[in-house]
Amino acid sequence: MPVTAVVGAQWGDEGKGKITDLLAQEADVVIRFQGGNNAGHTVVNQHGTFKLHLVPSGIFNPNALCIVGPGTVVNLQVLCEELANLERNGIRTGNLRVADRAHLLMPWHVAIDRLDERERGRQKLGTTGQGVGPAYADKVSRHGIQVYEVRDERRFRERVAHELERQKKVLERYGDAPLDAKAVADEVLAAAATLGDRIVDTLPLVERALQTDARILLEGQLGAMRDLDWGIYPYVTSSNPLAGGASVGAGIPPRYITKVIGVVKAYSTAVGEGPFPTEMAGGEGDALRERANEYGATTGRPRRVGWFDAVAARHAHRLNAFTELAVTKLDVLGAYREIPFCVGYELDGALTTDMPPTAVLERAVPRYEKLAGWCDPLSGVADRAHLPEAARAYLSRIEAVVGAPIGMVGIGPERSATLL
Ligand code: GDP
Repeated sequence: MPVTAVVGAQWGDEGKGKITDLLAQEADVVIRFQGGNNAGHTVVNQHGTFKLHLVPSGIFNPNALCIVGPGTVVNLQVLCEELANLERNGIRTGNLRVADRAHLLMPWHVAIDRLDERERGRQKLGTTGQGVGPAYADKVSRHGIQVYEVRDERRFRERVAHELERQKKVLERYGDAPLDAKAVADEVLAAAATLGDRIVDTLPLVERALQTDARILLEGQLGAMRDLDWGIYPYVTSSNPLAGGASVGAGIPPRYITKVIGVVKAYSTAVGEGPFPTEMAGGEGDALRERANEYGATTGRPRRVGWFDAVAARHAHRLNAFTELAVTKLDVLGAYREIPFCVGYELDGALTTDMPPTAVLERAVPRYEKLAGWCDPLSGVADRAHLPEAARAYLSRIEAVVGAPIGMVGIGPERSATLL
């Protein structure tokens, strides 16, 4: 296996956790390269059902080294809770490492996330409220605290006190109570002590893995439509979920990433605000949401649901050059006689297949083809060739409009319900 990036080709929640868990059975190293505990990667395997927020989805392979990469922002307390929960369920987590160059997500980031959303009012972004955006904002504005800084307790306490002094003014402006520097530092240092020597410089580990041709998986969070540079700004995440982001965020030189798997749902979903052209209205959307259990893994919020959007998926392919696609949740579409399939947008009297910028996208009207449904549950199907003809035609249409071949097809949430 070359170095493989597993990235989202839509608005996120495509099923990257499931695909990573599956591929991780054959991997030596799995790295989460961006984001924080706003992620909610659902994994269903022989150990049970897990919603992973920071821990890479490779954690179920005890032989794989799992790295929370330098490009992430880490709430150490949340990470410790997540590890404890895995351990309670019999999963050994000794194979986890945390990059010491990752940035700490501190309690004030959580408070500011919440307060900032409140202040935005009707312009709110619909964040998960976990503090990820403010943590990245501090990183970029050179106020962030990196994980390694916990090693020098005295200096760390000074840093926390200094940053809190600055943040106090922000919290006061919002009318929020100040945080106590000692309590905050105690909490983070206690979590750091729990992690102990699992906090490391990950670059030598990754370099050694590359030198020994180890099989490396890079696990992305969210999807191209939420990319900071190429998504629906400002309704985006604060990092780059693209394969290009994987290189920087994991510490892997770009030329080593030879395989990029774009995970794409057979339809579309989005959590949070922003344009979503193929969104289903009213009862139709409610029915699909219930059937497919489309509720956010981190917040429990109902996900917005829509038909497959080839413009969005092709936009993702243009940016990622997928070597293959993994289509998930094909089983969910088994209830329809006819399936609308968006092949372009009508804008100002013309048809386009290019992704316009956000404010223009708000006005886009999807142009649909109607594809035949198959009205069949897909359980028990063992390979793509044995899918109903209409389901095969649906997959072929995705390949044609996106321009990348499909290598995997999900027909159920379990690891085993995947056609290779
Ligand atoms: P991620 O954040 O990209 O890992 O995606 P989520 O875990 O947030 O959402 C994907 C959801 O779809 C999870 O509940 C998965 O268990 C589920 N899932 C993944 N693949 C399939 C599939 O092929 N069929 C069905 N029915 N569910 C799937």
